[in-house]
Amino acid sequence: MTMHPLAGHYEARRRLAHALSAGRLPQVILVTGPRGVGKQRLALWLAQMIYCEQPGKEPCGECRGCRLVLGLGHPDLHWMIPIPRPKAGDAAKQIEEAAELVAQAVDERRKAPLYGPPDGMAIHGVAIARLIARRASLTPVEGHRKVFIVGDAERLVPQEASPEAANALLKLLEEPPEDTVFILTAEDPKALLPTVRSRAVPLRLGRLDRDEVRGFLESQVDPPLDRAILDERVALAEGSIGRALWEVEDAAQARNRALEFLDAALAGDDRVQLMERVLKQAPWSARGEFSGMLEALGEALSDASRAALAQEPRRAVPGFLNRRDPAALSRAMNLVAEAEEAAKGNVNPQLLLAVLGEQLGATL
Ligand SMILES: [Zn+2]
Repeated sequence: MTMHPLAGHYEARRRLAHALSAGRLPQVILVTGPRGVGKQRLALWLAQMIYCEQPGKEPCGECRGCRLVLGLGHPDLHWMIPIPRPKAGDAAKQIEEAAELVAQAVDERRKAPLYGPPDGMAIHGVAIARLIARRASLTPVEGHRKVFIVGDAERLVPQEASPEAANALLKLLEEPPEDTVFILTAEDPKALLPTVRSRAVPLRLGRLDRDEVRGFLESQVDPPLDRAILDERVALAEGSIGRALWEVEDAAQARNRALEFLDAALAGDDRVQLMERVLKQAPWSARGEFSGMLEALGEALSDASRAALAQEPRRAVPGFLNRRDPAALSRAMNLVAEAEEAAKGNVNPQLLLAVLGEQLGATL
């Protein structure tokens, strides 16, 4: 399969195309913007522009360069995706292993171009930094330039992990070889290592408009979505195709769990028993799942609070949360916010929820 088309971001495309044709494309670009909005896809679009034999305002899509990029097979294009820490002991073997893991990750995206976010534990570690340095020193094979796309650049190796690898990478970003372009992508520029951020020219992508999200889902999702599901996804996507594709389902699941938990916490006499069941059945396989549930919990309370104050809630409020005291709801939201903060540290989710359930039961 080849990559799906790039949706929206016309102003960013125009600026990049202009800079490229004027020979003024920065060598280190940092693309930032909300999750799932198409940052890495835009980076691939730029790579296609760079390798296209007849680029205009857009890459032609037909030439060899274009086809190699779209098939994720261009030998001078290096798409670095966060990977698990290599297991090998010595540095040389780690680099080999990292290269293999990255190739696998790219291959997965080739097979499923509408890929999800990387695993929470995956990083651009020391081995990746070394791999980039090694590849950056090579002569381009096919094109006249090498392009490195570093997705989720927040996960780049910090100085403390390996001063030597981090410094090599920073030096590379400071003085990239003339035939090399680095495109880093990150959701939040503030989460990036300051030393990396200061070396890149920023390009901020905004949210897509609803028609762009809708048009994309209609043309790219196979089998097509039901009308009602399509409408719902467009509404909840908040201008992010990634969110429309993968997070809507996760969000629905998190909400179900949150409501079940609240229902149990507020169940009066049956509380202990219900709570025990809720806590037991929740296999929090990933930290993101747990924080997603807490977030959904806060949203449900915020909806109930809006309804209690005769404002329009964002989502339907279940019966057991209706007509609660707004002041109590506000205290409950604070408790959840504190739990969310605590959840960022190293806590046991079950234990945290058990305490929170008690507190919510007493408050509401
Ligand atoms: Zn082309």
